[in-house]
Amino acid sequence: MWNCPKCQEEGSIAEGGLLGTEWSCVSCGHAVPVQDGIPCFAPELIDTMTGFDPKLFDTLVKFETTSFWFVMRARLLTTLLDQYFPSPRDFLEIGCGTGSVLRALQQRFPQMRLTGSELHPHGLAYARGRLGDQVTLLQMDARDIPATGKFDVIGAFDVIEHIPEDVAVLREIHSALRPGGGVMIAVPQHPALWSPADDAAFHQRRYERGELERKLEEVGFTILHTTSFNSLLLPLMILSRQKMLWNQRRGTKSDPLSEFKMPDWLNRALMMILGVEVQLTRAGVKWPVGGSRIVLAQRE
Ligand SMILES: [Zn+2]
Repeated sequence: MWNCPKCQEEGSIAEGGLLGTEWSCVSCGHAVPVQDGIPCFAPELIDTMTGFDPKLFDTLVKFETTSFWFVMRARLLTTLLDQYFPSPRDFLEIGCGTGSVLRALQQRFPQMRLTGSELHPHGLAYARGRLGDQVTLLQMDARDIPATGKFDVIGAFDVIEHIPEDVAVLREIHSALRPGGGVMIAVPQHPALWSPADDAAFHQRRYERGELERKLEEVGFTILHTTSFNSLLLPLMILSRQKMLWNQRRGTKSDPLSEFKMPDWLNRALMMILGVEVQLTRAGVKWPVGGSRIVLAQRE
């Protein structure tokens, strides 16, 4: 059950879609607009440029199944979920994009009920094709999650750095979780690594050491695990970002997806290195530095 965006009644909207039923509020009768089969809880924000260029999805979807970065990030996330939150029933991914992480979760945990949300329904059309009808997809604003005490685990992977009000999002995640539920967040870290890639991706920030943990604790979470990710490849990432800065100074515009375009052999080599890192993380290694930070925390 979902909260009504109109009368704010909690749990007043049953999931529609099956047998032509509507997503409508039993309390006030409000019908959530449905676009291409996707219920839209924040329709006024569709196709606005709030944090991400929806046109990027078309290119992104091609890289997600093959690129070392997406493949190994999904492997790490499924591994950590398995370690820290065994057998959750209800999982929500915020900012699921084209559904590549949900697809990995669906394959690894077939018994889990999956929900994916996005601000841009354009990405959700890809997700629907990838995931089938078993996964609930909805359009919503992460700063106003229409659910209370509903989920066992909520994930947001490279999402909240796009949102100015990141603490508001964490607070909403907290209230959308059942007591004892867990959250998994991945963000880019180290402000010193800021480059044209962050501008092109509409990032609001790269996180400082301890910043995400502090913000999670501020809204009532207890930290279970925190580690860097993309640590072994950090020297390469620094070189690549330096090159972007040089290009920018020379007036050449950077391609935000340039770091995914590479020969096959190189992609395979980087995949192997990140694969080793994922294995070591699974074995308990906590990496002090790295391109990303992943934090798992629990609602009391
Ligand atoms: Zn209502």
